[in-house]
Amino acid sequence: MSTAQPNETSPPALASTPALGIRDKLADVGVTIFTQMSALAAEQGALNLSQGFPDFDGPTELLERVNHHLRNGGNQYAPMIGVASLREAVANKVARLYGRDVCPDTEVTITSGATEALFCSLTALVQPKDEVLLLDPAYDSYAPVIRLAGGVPVHVPMVIDSGCYRVDWDQVAAAVTGATRAIVTNSPNNPTGMVFDSEDINALARLADKYGLAIVADEVYEHMAFDGRSHISMTARDDLYGRSFTVSSFGKTYHTTGWKIGYCVAPAHLTALLRKIHQYVTFTSHTPSQLGLADFLTAQPEYDEQLSAFYQAKRDRFLATIAGSKFNWVPTQGTYFQLLDYTAFGLHNDWELARKWTYEAGFASIPLSPFYADPQPSELTRLRFCFAKDDETLDRAGRLLCQL
Ligand code: PMP
Ligand code: GLN
Repeated sequence: MSTAQPNETSPPALASTPALGIRDKLADVGVTIFTQMSALAAEQGALNLSQGFPDFDGPTELLERVNHHLRNGGNQYAPMIGVASLREAVANKVARLYGRDVCPDTEVTITSGATEALFCSLTALVQPKDEVLLLDPAYDSYAPVIRLAGGVPVHVPMVIDSGCYRVDWDQVAAAVTGATRAIVTNSPNNPTGMVFDSEDINALARLADKYGLAIVADEVYEHMAFDGRSHISMTARDDLYGRSFTVSSFGKTYHTTGWKIGYCVAPAHLTALLRKIHQYVTFTSHTPSQLGLADFLTAQPEYDEQLSAFYQAKRDRFLATIAGSKFNWVPTQGTYFQLLDYTAFGLHNDWELARKWTYEAGFASIPLSPFYADPQPSELTRLRFCFAKDDETLDRAGRLLCQL
């Protein structure tokens, strides 16, 4: 048995090309943990509960509408800012759910996934030496983008109370300096599942106002909040909207992560900055997907309103199947990720453990250490499991986890 990384996931060493004078801008970064664990799961034939994607398709009507446009001439460049009908559908959704009228022409931009929207927002915002606050554990794409723009990520760890994660806003305030430009938020949160409540949002608003901070709000799991919680979007608040890039993903909401279509809603002056970058990053995104999504959102605008119940049922099924296992957990508040505490196994090193169980126990999960700049031992007792899976897959996962 070997727990070495599969070769195909290791990046080539740039040190072998010194004559070209190329300096690796992300020298300390390898391939992402999601790429590594999905590759290992495939190599080992293990059940992949690691990278976050559903093992079922999006709604048939949506697939049919994309197919329709693919076969009926919707195959050339879409407008740089996104097809008009999809931008209108996003504006309608923001009005329906969050009560804000946004202009589809000047405040909504369609991007190649939330990833591109995050890249363009942060690149638009960050000047050399600017500091940007991140709340650890933080999704892996934020810090590298800040660094590529010459900025400095400042990591503030969340507090863990009896297995529940929360932001200590006093600690966040203490990390602000004269160079702090922005804060990145992610609620519902990957990987912890934490969902901001109104006290969090009020604290964020006070902080942003006091120090004049911009906000990049990663809201890709906006439609997955459980047990009566509801997501509070930056677009819902007058005191936050004017300073925020609000990012979401059709991949999460419509079970189509592979299409890589997302969007950013921001006031016109921020949107203009974002679009200057977007036009040189991808210029525009896959046209038939945009047209198909626009048709579907127009025909079934309320589809997103049943998603929380859908995923809460999946969470509950997953947790019921592992009731007899040695893991401990607090039911996740949102997202399609559940953290499981493995302290009872007496094992350490989450990275090694995630790999070991992929080799030996037939399932892949995600360690939390890659989400931290400086992980403390008390923060590394949990693995992340994706429960966006068919019921049969969840039952199989439960059997594997109970056998440990
Ligand atoms: N932000 C978070 C918190 C995510 O989990 C993900 C991954 N799904 C993304 C952004 C990227 O979304 P997309 O696939 O639309 O680029
Ligand atoms: N957001 C996905 C996750 O957290 C991963 C997407 C990716 O592989 N970049 O699992």
